Amino acid sequence: MLINLISDTVTKPTQGMLDAMMSAAVGDDVFKEDPTVNALEEKAAKLFGMESALFFPSGTMTNQTAIKLHTQPGEQLICDKYAHIYNYEGGGVSFNSGVSCRLVDGDRGTMTAEQVTAAINPPDFYHSPLTTLVSIENTANKGGGTCWDFNELLAIRKVCDEHNLGYHLDGARLWNAMVEMKETPLQYGELFDTISVCLSKGLGCPVGSLLLGTKVQMEKAIRIRKIFGGGMRQSGFLAAAAIYALDNHVERLVDDHKRAKEIGEALSAKSFVKKVEPIDTNIVIFEIDESFMTSDQFVNRLKEKEILIIGMGQGKLRMVTHLDYTDDMHNELLKHLAAF
Ligand SMILES: *Cc1c(COP(=O)(O)O)cnc(C)c1O
Repeated sequence: MLINLISDTVTKPTQGMLDAMMSAAVGDDVFKEDPTVNALEEKAAKLFGMESALFFPSGTMTNQTAIKLHTQPGEQLICDKYAHIYNYEGGGVSFNSGVSCRLVDGDRGTMTAEQVTAAINPPDFYHSPLTTLVSIENTANKGGGTCWDFNELLAIRKVCDEHNLGYHLDGARLWNAMVEMKETPLQYGELFDTISVCLSKGLGCPVGSLLLGTKVQMEKAIRIRKIFGGGMRQSGFLAAAAIYALDNHVERLVDDHKRAKEIGEALSAKSFVKKVEPIDTNIVIFEIDESFMTSDQFVNRLKEKEILIIGMGQGKLRMVTHLDYTDDMHNELLKHLAAF
């Protein structure tokens, strides 16, 4: 039995999702004539209480489009040092928008309002880049699936208002945060100027992300999506998967979180595990005591047992629970860990 814990993106569509996809009504979405894409965008906008939503092929593209919407070349955005937009989007911030990142040394991928305030360049000091955007990530991926304190998000909104900054949420795993913290999409829709959410992670879709914002912003975003080459034709097949996932795969994320915590406990019990980082949601980050074995050796030993996990660099290892990680796999993994 292959147990793949490399990422929550490794999931394959369930039978129910496939059935929904195969029976989708489709049209050419580049002409805005795909009824299922239109239905998804309307559903998502309503869910978040935002004016408008736009369907994209990836979360990188939604984030990059949002950054382009909020900034002009030469300007600067503020994000945590672990931010996906800074670390894992191929340098797109500078390539696509000509913008630099001011990195905040936050806590597991989260920042405080004070740290954000301190990172703002004074707008009248023309020697430094003009700060125009704050981007936060919930859950924070590299931080270990960290959930933000909503009050801190509110405090940062206030800072953005006072300094006339855009406020973007990279919510690739916002679903995980909302389920864990018992928060609602409406709360987030009210707080942020733009929100990006992924459908291809915890929700189990094969492809797709959504960008949410005002009607005017999405009218601009569709041009940026065109420039990035992200217009899709009969994408209603993918939108049908997304609608199915929103209806069926959100609440169950608590199961992924429970299993991640149990994996964390099993790892903590092992003498060769040096450290397990706090587990808020579905991501487990841990370190091996290299006087016992190297992290590469540990990864390979698991691989021999058909268990796949991934290194994050600097000796950190990661396991991610997801829709295709079943109870049987979970019991098998815990058995192997106990016997190690
Ligand atoms: C996965 C991810 C994205 C987008 O990734 P794509 O693979 O382009 O869909 C953005 N932000 C975070 C935090 C992510 O984990």
